[in-house]
Amino acid sequence: MRSDDDSWDITTSVGSTALFVATARALEAQKPDPLVVDPYAEMFSRAVGGDWAGVLDGDRPDHDLKTAEFGAHFVNFQAARTRYFDDYFRRAAEAGVRQVVILAAGLDSRAYRLPWPDGTTVFELDQPQVLEFKRRVLAEHGAQPTAERREIAVDLRDDWPQALRDAGFDPARPSAWIAEGLLIYLPASAQEQLFTGIDGLAAAGSHIAVEDGAPMPADDYAAALADEQAAGDDARIFHQLIYNQRCAPADEWFGARGWTATPTPLATWLDTLGRPVPSADVDAGPMIARITLVSGVKR
Ligand code: SAM
Repeated sequence: MRSDDDSWDITTSVGSTALFVATARALEAQKPDPLVVDPYAEMFSRAVGGDWAGVLDGDRPDHDLKTAEFGAHFVNFQAARTRYFDDYFRRAAEAGVRQVVILAAGLDSRAYRLPWPDGTTVFELDQPQVLEFKRRVLAEHGAQPTAERREIAVDLRDDWPQALRDAGFDPARPSAWIAEGLLIYLPASAQEQLFTGIDGLAAAGSHIAVEDGAPMPADDYAAALADEQAAGDDARIFHQLIYNQRCAPADEWFGARGWTATPTPLATWLDTLGRPVPSADVDAGPMIARITLVSGVKR
């Protein structure tokens, strides 16, 4: 279970979720008709090896990411989510924003993958050991960022706004923010602190994009947690890593503070992109139904 000051590397606790979503992106890239291709995702999975590489080679047909009821939908979900936030960053860049803040960057490769305009700085915030792994793998492959990239090794429950300023972020200029795959790993109080930090540093004309989600019903969460704990140490964990809390729907929180924030249910977005939406009785169905992608601009 989580604690207030826990930390992790790329293969443990919350760090392993970055590897899980990167591996899902790598599986999307193997399809004949990918929604998005992240060529760096596979490098990360292969650098860790074991099941993370085996699943890409078809050697682990029973892996969570390969099941029809969960894995296939989860890969579609990651592809759709990546596409949503890639499109968002293109709009922000076209609007003239040159400061990008990737909160909980994990193995997000947008600083290497997207065609940033000259003069763009991408700030990546995450735990020190996660950033260290990412740096090592990218350096081994000779990867070159397409913008100026600055790493900020920090816990997002601590004073990250100060760390961001110390790294050269200028609150007087507009910025574009992303919180993708992050909120569920923070208690409600830290989510509120995160939103407040963003709002405090965002000049007029700044952009925001958030992956938001309604918490699971308390009984369902308790049951899922108990199942996971009963399955023992070797089982893949997820419910033990999340807080199942929400400070407020992100569109409402930012909408009340001078931002235009539009929510798009993930199910609607999957449908728009021509990917199937799982029904409620399918393993991945309830998770996908709870998620909303939100983006907006500060007036
Ligand atoms: N945003 C990336 C993406 O979508 O590929 C990574 C998402 S991954 C599911 C969750 C990430 O959140 C991990 O990289 C983890 O280290 C980071 N994270 C969660 N809580 C954090 C905290 N309190 N401080 C810093 N990073 C945190």
